[in-house]
Amino acid sequence: MGVLLVVVYGLLILSPLITVAALWMKGEMTLMHETGTSAAFAAYGIIALQPVLTARWKFVERPFGLDVISRFHRYMGLFAAALLLSHPPLMAYGGAGVKLLLTLEQPWYVLLGKAVLVLLLINVCVSMWYARFGLGFEQWRRFHNVLAMIVIPCAFVHSWWSGYDMGPKPMVLLWFGLLGLTVWAYVDRKLVQPMRLERRPYRVSDVEQETHNVWTVKLAPPEGERIYDHHPGQFHFVTLYRSEGVPVEEHHWTISSSPTQREHISSTIKESGDFTSTIGRTAPGDTAIVQGPFGRFSYTLYPQDKEYVFIAGGIGITPFMSMLRHMRDTGNDAEVLLIYANSTEQDIVFRSEIEEMEHGTRPRLSVIHVVGKPDEGWTGQSGRLTPEALVRLVGPDSEDRAYYVCVPPGMAKVVIRGLRSMGVPYRRMRREEFSL
Ligand SMILES: Cc1cc2nc3c(=O)[nH]c(=O)nc-3n(C[C@H](O)[C@H](O)[C@H](O)COP(=O)(O)OP(=O)(O)OC[C@H]3O[C@@H](n4cnc5c(N)ncnc54)[C@H](O)[C@@H]3O)c2cc1C
Repeated sequence: MGVLLVVVYGLLILSPLITVAALWMKGEMTLMHETGTSAAFAAYGIIALQPVLTARWKFVERPFGLDVISRFHRYMGLFAAALLLSHPPLMAYGGAGVKLLLTLEQPWYVLLGKAVLVLLLINVCVSMWYARFGLGFEQWRRFHNVLAMIVIPCAFVHSWWSGYDMGPKPMVLLWFGLLGLTVWAYVDRKLVQPMRLERRPYRVSDVEQETHNVWTVKLAPPEGERIYDHHPGQFHFVTLYRSEGVPVEEHHWTISSSPTQREHISSTIKESGDFTSTIGRTAPGDTAIVQGPFGRFSYTLYPQDKEYVFIAGGIGITPFMSMLRHMRDTGNDAEVLLIYANSTEQDIVFRSEIEEMEHGTRPRLSVIHVVGKPDEGWTGQSGRLTPEALVRLVGPDSEDRAYYVCVPPGMAKVVIRGLRSMGVPYRRMRREEFSL
């Protein structure tokens, strides 16, 4: 499915070029002018498909995972901006003349094209540096969506009016087809999906404090419904509706409960910013809109893995907890080594449950805690995790071993360096990052 989607995506963004070539619509234009047109065609295909990538359509998400798709969306946005930046100079030097670049005395649809380029560049820059522009994540997201929904139709109008290739029926069909797909993805994501989810709200059934700054929120499904199916380690989007004055925002959190738990689905959340600092104010009876599952960070999706090394940093323990609970509940006797790094002993989440599992037989779990600043009397590993320390803790590698890593970004570099120095190939490393 993944390969098929990549091929379809490639064909769709190249389809205007292919159609023009197939129809042999050669004008009297120079090669440079044609290259400029081709750059704009490809860029239009890319930006028209951007909302499809982020529409959270399961068949698109499942083969890759939402994190990979989000990253791809970002890079393709940059690539489209680069293609569009090359479009005016290529057209100018290819025959349209430098006045295309230097004056505003142009037909309205050319000016519209210039405006599209400026708006797209603003969107790209703000997306890359929204915090520097003083925007919060939610504000940036709204800004990004509004601008995208101005840029895409304007790009359509500009190309429609100025493109001399738009006459033949296949091009008309293609252009409207791409626009239709964009509108469909956008309407589905912004209207249809929320309406469907709002009809089936979840209810907060319990809130437990795990550590000084970590809370587990349990969510029960709507009356008469079951918890949706998910793999252990996947994540979901949750919008909590709580008491007045507490912000309503959608956030993504790992499902820390196991799929074997059918009464509720839980997330374990660290107070780490504006919104999550209010998580302790969540109360039983509050409602929640839940959309999931997403992601591919789950041992059940890689049946070829036989032996596991789980490397967790701080709140990155949540997907591992879901997987370990699932292994325990299904009687899986897999061999698992958990290396769990925290700043202090007080930051260790699920400490007693992990200890209980370590004493059990399924899975065959060994745990190594690494504490950055240990209290007096701590007898375990301490200090910062370095590549050398990791190699020592992990022990000898084998072909049967798979390494699952969910740690903060700085630590990820250390872990990957350590694993690579042992000769572990990337195909046996599975990574989850807590940012999309
Ligand atoms: C796949 C995945 C799984 C995660 N699982 C967990 C988990 O199990 N437990 C946990 O504590 N944290 C988890 N996180 C991190 C969690 O999503 C963020 O910590 C949380 O959204 C921070 O919100 P804030 O407003 O309190 O922090 P802020 O300091 O305001 O934001 C910090 C960062 O969080 C991201 N963010 C903020 N608001 C949103 C939003 N509305 N939607 C999306 N991203 C946003 C942005 O990148 C932002 O820069 C996970 C993240 C991802 C991507």
